[in-house]
Amino acid sequence: MNVIQSKLTLSVQTPKLRKCGKALFLLSGLISCGLLLHAQEQQSGDEAWRKQYRASATKYNDLIHTKLDVKFDYDKSYMYGKEWVTIKPHFYPTDSLSLDAKGMDLHTVAIVKDGKNVPLKYDYDGMILRVHLDRIYKYTEKYTLYINYTAKPNELKVHAGSAAITDAKGLYFINPKGEEKDKPTEIWTQGETEANSVWFPTIDKPNQKTTEEIIMTVPAKYVTLSNGLLVNQKTNGDGTRTDYWKMDLPHAPYLFFMGIGDFAVIKDSYKGKEVSYYVEKAYAPVARRIFGHTPEMIAFYSRITGIDYPWAKYSQMVGRDYVSGAMENTTCTLHGDGAQQDARQLTDGNDWEDIIAHELFHQWFGDLVTTESWSNITVNESFADYSETLWNEYKYGKDAGDAVNYQGIQSYLQQPESAEKNLVRFYYADKEDVFDQVSYPKGGRILNMLRYYVGDSAFFKSLNLYLTTNKFKSAEAQNLRLAFEEVTGQDLNWYWNQWYYNSGHPKLNIDYAYDDAAKKVQVIVGQTQGEKLFRLPIAIDVYNGATKSRHKVWIENKTDTFTFAYNGGKPDLVNVDGDKILLCEKKDNKTLDNYLHQYKYAGGFVDRREAVDFCAKHLDDAKAQSLMKVALNDKYYRIRNFTLSKLDLKKEAIRTIFEPLIAAMAEHDNSRVVRARAIDLLGNFGNPAYKDLFLKATSDSSYSVAGNALAALSEIDSVQALALAKKMQKAPAKGELSTAISGVLIKSGGESDFDAIAENFEKMPTSQNKFQMVMPFSSMLTKVTSTDKLKRGVDLLIQFKEAIPAAYRKQTDPYFDNTLNGVAAQKQASGLQDQADYIKTKVTGSKKAF
Ligand SMILES: [Zn+2]
Repeated sequence: MNVIQSKLTLSVQTPKLRKCGKALFLLSGLISCGLLLHAQEQQSGDEAWRKQYRASATKYNDLIHTKLDVKFDYDKSYMYGKEWVTIKPHFYPTDSLSLDAKGMDLHTVAIVKDGKNVPLKYDYDGMILRVHLDRIYKYTEKYTLYINYTAKPNELKVHAGSAAITDAKGLYFINPKGEEKDKPTEIWTQGETEANSVWFPTIDKPNQKTTEEIIMTVPAKYVTLSNGLLVNQKTNGDGTRTDYWKMDLPHAPYLFFMGIGDFAVIKDSYKGKEVSYYVEKAYAPVARRIFGHTPEMIAFYSRITGIDYPWAKYSQMVGRDYVSGAMENTTCTLHGDGAQQDARQLTDGNDWEDIIAHELFHQWFGDLVTTESWSNITVNESFADYSETLWNEYKYGKDAGDAVNYQGIQSYLQQPESAEKNLVRFYYADKEDVFDQVSYPKGGRILNMLRYYVGDSAFFKSLNLYLTTNKFKSAEAQNLRLAFEEVTGQDLNWYWNQWYYNSGHPKLNIDYAYDDAAKKVQVIVGQTQGEKLFRLPIAIDVYNGATKSRHKVWIENKTDTFTFAYNGGKPDLVNVDGDKILLCEKKDNKTLDNYLHQYKYAGGFVDRREAVDFCAKHLDDAKAQSLMKVALNDKYYRIRNFTLSKLDLKKEAIRTIFEPLIAAMAEHDNSRVVRARAIDLLGNFGNPAYKDLFLKATSDSSYSVAGNALAALSEIDSVQALALAKKMQKAPAKGELSTAISGVLIKSGGESDFDAIAENFEKMPTSQNKFQMVMPFSSMLTKVTSTDKLKRGVDLLIQFKEAIPAAYRKQTDPYFDNTLNGVAAQKQASGLQDQADYIKTKVTGSKKAF
């Protein structure tokens, strides 16, 4: 994403779209705020890409080994590099070599002969370095080039006529001159997709693999991190130190990494291998609360893949202003600064845990076996996405795994345009486009359905075969099919053709016809998605009381009718898709009694959630009310939370029944997340009886409980809430507390409170919260009469606007500009011409920076 992206980490409350190195999840967060819906529509009218097949890169030459010796110029944000890169022709003899080398100054390009550098002729257009070798080489002959160069990531220019690479700098200098207070000075790199060739010449394609050595000279006060092991360190006389990192096993160039800064390093281990966490020193005390499950995750993933963690160590670093969620560089994952949660945030649970699991699983799927092309990114990302389900199921139980899986289905379904895209994407406008809801959550669910179809032991044995066969190489989705076919003995082309090389999902209509006389039930399943029919192996469970009989059937026609004889009396429930794994939309025409039975006896997370959803729509029925009461005490907090979200307490009758229960949850629920929701609901009553409860909860250690309590209090006693907000604003606050403080200050404060409001807005730590405050903050500005205050407020908005990464500015700028223009119009209408003019200069003036 960006250099300046500061604080734009949105993963926290957004549904999953874990990026490895990409932008999407930032924007999906913004879009989920409902603020940017219009912005998405600005797709280019150029559709030529639809006809351009994206082949895997042809291998003319193969990388073998890459050795770098680098030092950094913090003033200029340059890197001075020397490279020795060992290469051979892939198969056909050749006397030339093309290397990706983006925006560099090249000083020497030579071939190493008998220890001497013999200069070679080359052509360089700023993007590709074409080297004329001294003779024709055969694939049995390797040679080493020496290249002396300067990498200038911030001066990288977009090539006329070529795809924009505005935000793929590869090498990022963060606060390099120390000019930004409260921000550490760091250097880190981000390779995926093809950006590492900004800092070293290479064949920057995912189907290349090379071993690696990096020798880094850095200010002695900093620590460094790179791939492989730190072999040695040498202190130099000039205040610098030289660290030598070595990676013995081959991996793809986009997985190369360097990270440099003033980090605390907290060390754990796995089977004698270092497992370490590089965090800003302030977070050293909580580093293990954030990352501490890592060794257990490594053991778990080693066990299920049957391949013990394949690399020499595993480190995780948190980078400031990181452009993405996190990136699975081999042996050294880089996380965005959203990973750094303080102790109060962690009270609500570790929001980063799924990302930690995701990046770790990439060490097998992505790093050990790498996608051969961006079209096949599913063999990296669908596995990493699915690993979050696997980890949650293992660590926290079936409900947790099912909840993550269900969330994945929903996040795919929420984006209608995803239904148009094949999982394996041979056609795309930009290679960055493949990092989306199809490659991640849809692909993860396709793996989950496959697991249920072939069974656990065949599933994991097939993964093992795929990894073993393709380790240290690249692979595509067909390699995966072959592994599953070999293990199961079945032809699985139908599954791959349907889910990997095709698009969309089934839409099912499910009806039931009971014939008590004949003691038979018919289940009629219709596919309503259109012409394309799906083949779906599913389980249909027929329940009599607690007794379940399972029928395994295939849905494959426009309409399929299945008939089952009653074993006892009329079934209490016929549960289609008994494991609730189908990636589909469905209209399941069950009765309330069916759902009551489903909650109690089918009992899976999705079974219960569906029952609550149905009952919420039939709350005039006493049986539905009873189920909702039971669900408020469900064993799993996400069901309790969902049930709360379904209660419309504006209805007097509902309120009378549920209010005491909710009040009890607000005080005692053992999940802070549920308590916060309950407090939020109670707040809508404006009932003074809850004042003490709210007041007490404002000092809860959880930001979400305290924040919702403050907002609820302001509904009862706005004066006290305002006083409290001003007090709370002086202490660190994040998340929902930070939003609540700003909300209360804006709602109840006057012009005299403006400075406090502005200060709170300025220091709001995450962009998602801050983005949500843009509108209320702007409406506050319309009321401010002092021109100085107005200017300060406008400047803060512009600062935030410009801190958003360049790649998103096209989408976010119009929102800021429209909002500010709205304020200007109000000012003009009130005769405050000076203020209106000031806003207008800022709105127009800021366009230059774009
Ligand atoms: Zn990933």
